Amino acid sequence: MLHILTLATVLLTFNSFAQTPVVSEPIGSYNKGSLLNASDLPPEGPGYMRLFTKRNRGWGTEEIVSMIVETAADINQLYPDKDRLQAGDIGAEKGGQISRHGSHQNGLDIDITYYRVNGKEQKPESINGFQESMVRNGKLSSNFDIVRNWELVKTLHKHGKVQRIFLDTVIKRELCKHARGIGEFTDQVEVLRSLRPFKNHSDHLHVRLYCPPEAKACKAQEEVAPGPGC
Ligand SMILES: [Zn+2]
Repeated sequence: MLHILTLATVLLTFNSFAQTPVVSEPIGSYNKGSLLNASDLPPEGPGYMRLFTKRNRGWGTEEIVSMIVETAADINQLYPDKDRLQAGDIGAEKGGQISRHGSHQNGLDIDITYYRVNGKEQKPESINGFQESMVRNGKLSSNFDIVRNWELVKTLHKHGKVQRIFLDTVIKRELCKHARGIGEFTDQVEVLRSLRPFKNHSDHLHVRLYCPPEAKACKAQEEVAPGPGC
């Protein structure tokens, strides 16, 4: 009897270990880091597709992967039958330096194209970067879908993990104007605050998550200055 109980205990213990999800672990900084137990963003799902699939850079923390999957599904429900969220690089399976990027090293950065009025999607196997700039001669392109792109940045924030979103300075200005125009400026100051103008972001935005609190070896970036920055 004792043996059976001991065996049962061992089996139960083993089973609970087996069911513990493997937690991904960002190590070091966004610009000099690595990643343990990465999750791979599947090539497509409801409301999203991955770009540059041949590069095999869809690896990130499980938080970033589930955030993209859920955000895309939410936007797709609000605006069905439009172009999908197009996800660019997250990172390599074990993190670290990848070509074309300074950061994207610890599984907490992802590039996403802007939603388009004409609904056109880039081919997933394309390799030469994002194909459409949304700013021309200092002006926002008429193909920039401001309603859905504003919804996108707000929806990304619903997960409570976004620290910064790098985008073009003209795009930030227009999103500030849009938020004011629809009476959401005051309520969405924290979303606007996270939008950081940065060069070379007229054809995509770059979402950066906070270090997860349990990732002790993850090196945090300083907080964004307070206020909407509009
Ligand atoms: Zn990026």
